[in-house]
Amino acid sequence: MKRVLIVGNWKMFKTIPEAVNLVNSIKAGVHKISNCDIVACPPFTALTAVSELVRDSNVDLGAQDMHFETEGAFTGEISPMMLKDVGCRYVILGHSERRAYFKETDELINKKVKAALKYNIVPIVCVGETLEEREAHKAFEVVKKQFDYSLADLDAAAIERVVVAYEPVWAIGTGRTATPEQAEQMHSYIRRLLNEKYGREVAARIKILYGGSVKPDNIELLVSKPNIDGALVGGASIKAESFIQIVKNSLPSEIKSNS
Ligand code: PEP
Repeated sequence: MKRVLIVGNWKMFKTIPEAVNLVNSIKAGVHKISNCDIVACPPFTALTAVSELVRDSNVDLGAQDMHFETEGAFTGEISPMMLKDVGCRYVILGHSERRAYFKETDELINKKVKAALKYNIVPIVCVGETLEEREAHKAFEVVKKQFDYSLADLDAAAIERVVVAYEPVWAIGTGRTATPEQAEQMHSYIRRLLNEKYGREVAARIKILYGGSVKPDNIELLVSKPNIDGALVGGASIKAESFIQIVKNSLPSEIKSNS
């Protein structure tokens, strides 16, 4: 049975009291669920408070970005050591908003991926094409380049600790979801790239998440596809009801009724 991973990216939303309320509501809504991995990624300022509240729960903590150095004169940055210190098990890297607004390159993302692994933090590495690239029939080429360079120089033991997130940029925050078929087509392509590089057994163990306007009413069909192992959820993760419902609807039907 597939064990789905659902990650909430809270982006630049939530003060500390709001984050506390949100995580408490999420915890209450998902506490009976054991067949799904659930991660909340609050903004940096709320990590400490949320970390205390998710300890001993079935919700894990993640961050939305980090620097690749352990420490140093990098004003404004947060290091993997600091994320580990605050209790993060996951970190989102190479989100399209970071690529677009902060000019992050695949080479920089690759350094961050290696640094996260060094600190035993699971990197959730985002790839995905823009609308122009899709319309120019370049989606596969773009994703391959992001895959090759942002995940460069990782051996099988390292790649097994990575989560890949396919997030078509045109579907993020737009309400326009890729159809489950469109998403599966790219996910199976990414699985093929993993197969070619690491072999079938290793490739089969790597989680590939879909992200882009995931909602309670589209998650079920998305995760029913063989190569979609969960979701990276933005907008719908900052309201407890919709995030809880996404988690519940992602469960295999035989256990949905008990949660
Ligand atoms: C995201 O921020 O990673 C995302 C997928 O956002 P949304 O769900 O709002 O499209």
